[in-house]
Amino acid sequence: MNDIERAGIYIHIPFCVKKCNYCDFPSFTRMEGLFGDYALTLCKEMELVRERYGYVSADTLFIGGGTPSIISVSDLSLIINTLTELFNVSENAEMTLEVNPGTVTYEKARAYRQLGFNRISIGFQAAQDRLLRLMGRIHTKDMFADCVNLVKKCGFTNINADIIFGIPTQTMEDWIETIDTVISSDITHVSCYSLEIGENTPWFKMRERGELPFTDDELERQMYDYAVAKLGSSGFRHYEISNFSRIGFECMHNIKYWSCKPYLGFGAAAHSFYRNIRSSNLTDPVEYIKILKRRLSPEVTAQTINDEQKLSERFILGLRLTDGVSLKSLECEFGSRAVKEYESKITSLEEKKLVYIDKDMLRLTKTGLDYANQVWLEFI
Ligand code: SF4
Repeated sequence: MNDIERAGIYIHIPFCVKKCNYCDFPSFTRMEGLFGDYALTLCKEMELVRERYGYVSADTLFIGGGTPSIISVSDLSLIINTLTELFNVSENAEMTLEVNPGTVTYEKARAYRQLGFNRISIGFQAAQDRLLRLMGRIHTKDMFADCVNLVKKCGFTNINADIIFGIPTQTMEDWIETIDTVISSDITHVSCYSLEIGENTPWFKMRERGELPFTDDELERQMYDYAVAKLGSSGFRHYEISNFSRIGFECMHNIKYWSCKPYLGFGAAAHSFYRNIRSSNLTDPVEYIKILKRRLSPEVTAQTINDEQKLSERFILGLRLTDGVSLKSLECEFGSRAVKEYESKITSLEEKKLVYIDKDMLRLTKTGLDYANQVWLEFI
């Protein structure tokens, strides 16, 4: 890693009010008694990482979850103060906090702003209360609108909404209404994901028993195409497979992931990529607190990424961006021989009209966006 390159920092808050029916992200409920200890433990982990890597410079911070907005403002402020004391966080760093509409108040939003957050990411998912109930979400459509209004009132101008397509019983009309709702909320960023049903979730079991209403792949494709067209014609740039933003409001933190830039992750289940090592922490917050009480690292996996693996990742992650990946810069970084090894695969993908080269940028075509998984396989 270039020493002057600034890293991203991710902090995981693994707690939720209630588990959604499709979610197997590392997030836990009924752990309110642990929030204070967890915040203190994050600070201990930051101290260990500071001892290991020194005064790391960072220009993005993303606090995700789980539901970061369920912890108290004082816990959050302890985390931010420790972070800025131990690391060199740029004054103009992008600082994102993920929130759930059911958990934000005016006082909290104002405190978030005072703590330096300048970007809010809201888990909205759908504009129909019937779908939100079905998914097990804790909020309604109106609570999303209230959340947007109150964060705006507190000075936030960079706001994302996550929305999901492919939800059982969701119709095209529902999806159009969801897209219209985010556009009319006058926000700056939209992340559109197709529903992923995690293993060990109620919906996974229901699907196995044939009890979950069927979702049609063709309808999902139409929903995605609709989002690309409608958001595009409403001034959002489609800059990554699932992400759309007003010009200048791309998520700089996530762009680091897609460009294989370094980042440090803190908290249970957090991942890092730093000095060419990909690592991950243990998932259970109770174990995380216990191990750090003994001042031991919570890291459970660590793998050094060699140049060959890194080049493969650069192709796969870089192609997620609609700007694509620069073949020239890959050649400068990895040598033209290493990049040439992919030449026949790229030619074959071009023939199938899944990728194209514009100047030196390798990009997915419109069909390639729909079949991206097939393209990734060629670069593994
Ligand atoms: S989808 Fe989000 S809010 Fe729902 S359980 Fe998972 S992390 Fe929590």
